[in-house]
Amino acid sequence: MDLGLKGRSAVVMAASKGLGKAAARALAAEGCRVAISARHAETLTAAAREIEQQYGVEVVPVAGDVRNPRDIQTLIDSAAREFGGVDILVTNAGGPPVRTFEDSTDEEWREWYDITFLSVVRSVRAALPHLKKSGRGRIINITSSSVKAPIESLVYSNALRLAVVGLAKTLSRELGPHGITVHNVAPGYHLTDGLERIIVNKMQQGLRREQVLESWSRSIPVGRIGRPEDLGALIAWLAGDQASYLNGTTIPVDGGLYPGVM
Ligand code: NAD
Repeated sequence: MDLGLKGRSAVVMAASKGLGKAAARALAAEGCRVAISARHAETLTAAAREIEQQYGVEVVPVAGDVRNPRDIQTLIDSAAREFGGVDILVTNAGGPPVRTFEDSTDEEWREWYDITFLSVVRSVRAALPHLKKSGRGRIINITSSSVKAPIESLVYSNALRLAVVGLAKTLSRELGPHGITVHNVAPGYHLTDGLERIIVNKMQQGLRREQVLESWSRSIPVGRIGRPEDLGALIAWLAGDQASYLNGTTIPVDGGLYPGVM
């Protein structure tokens, strides 16, 4: 299936590793030019070169921190300058730490509000003039299955990601007339460095790595942990022409883990 993405331009935030990198890879595989960001220039540049060599499209690394509004503006400006516009924005950031409500602090709430929510607000604001010009713009937020069902001891994720979902639904209504559609993808367990940190936390409670993976796999109807490319494939499809009549959705990619009907 040709998704109609050849020659289009995308920005993927927090994409040197894990789910962001998988999104960048899936878009590049469809012929999209991609600008990617993350804090560490060396790892980011290596990821850009790897994707570029694999798919033969331009991949531009722009080092920056999603906490810094100027870095976000620089990322979007660089992509627009390099590619002549921005058609697709994929927002992403590192995930909040394991905390119960009783362990949470005001300082951390503010930090994760900045990283999880304000980074989306700022990147949408910076990309909007370009997405409007595109006429078929896309905003796709990488969130978490925590927006469907709270995850034990991830209080910042459980609470703050719902603000992203509310924002996305609002944007889908405000920006639809400009040809821009807006979605959230809600990953369940996908094997990345981010998930490894949660596994290490479980191991500190006395479980072995295999026990943690087995118990998660047993709880997932398709019987396995996700691969980052499982999420990347959905993101590329949502960015493509076939998805032009979908708008304002939140789509779980979790092997059926979420047990609710809707
Ligand atoms: P990861 O740790 O493997 O990768 C995170 C990426 O974000 C890296 O490229 C890192 O360099 C970058 N990054 C981190 N902090 C940043 C910052 N302040 N500024 C710029 N870049 C930054 O994580 P992942 O597993 O790919 O997860 C990505 C997002 O998806 C997280 O928010 C995570 O909580 C969420 N999520 C992941 C899973 C999963 O199973 N992997 C499930 C649900 C939700």
